[in-house]
Amino acid sequence: MKNLVLFGPPGAGKGTQAAFLKETYDLIHISTGDVFRFNIKNETDLGKLAKSFMDKGALVPDQVTIDMLSAEVAKNLDSNGFIFDGFPRNVLQAEALDVLLKSHQTEISAMIALEVDDEVLVKRLLKRGKTSGRPDDANDTVVRNRIKIYYAETAILKSYYSAKDKYFGVDGVGSVEDITVRLNTVINTL
Ligand code: AMP
Repeated sequence: MKNLVLFGPPGAGKGTQAAFLKETYDLIHISTGDVFRFNIKNETDLGKLAKSFMDKGALVPDQVTIDMLSAEVAKNLDSNGFIFDGFPRNVLQAEALDVLLKSHQTEISAMIALEVDDEVLVKRLLKRGKTSGRPDDANDTVVRNRIKIYYAETAILKSYYSAKDKYFGVDGVGSVEDITVRLNTVINTL
């Protein structure tokens, strides 16, 4: 199995690129944010819980997120592998992901990070907020809070995967096509 963590701050373009990678490598794309939004739309208990955190730009509690992710992985064990998008968000989640994949006799192949400057991110997110219908994209304070949490809790995962020689940084500024080419170059070396 090829299991990729697609990494980067909110607005780095993970969702856009995941859609291409999923097709090219025939992988299952799991975006934890998308699964939460699906649950919010369908007014499930998980959705109601997640919404209260997401509206503030805060993280949904780890165990809730890990349980949800484990269930998504379990549904697709016959696949070629996974693209994890928006997960892990902190070290506890990264450790849980290692344990989960090990229990299925597999592991993370690489973390590939889209590197984008903060001010570019804020602009991209607020622009996306005008059309995405995502309340957490539309408000400057919430957008900045999401980026703040990324640096406080998530960015450290660069060290986590670097220590395992699994971290690959890719310049996330440029055309969608150019960035896809950069990602493919990395993935083809794995
Ligand atoms: P995203 O679509 O990845 O930008 O995620 C949107 C929101 O969903 C985040 O701001 C969090 O509130 C929640 N979320 C998504 N993934 C996670 C995760 N791995 N852990 C905790 N909360 C998450």
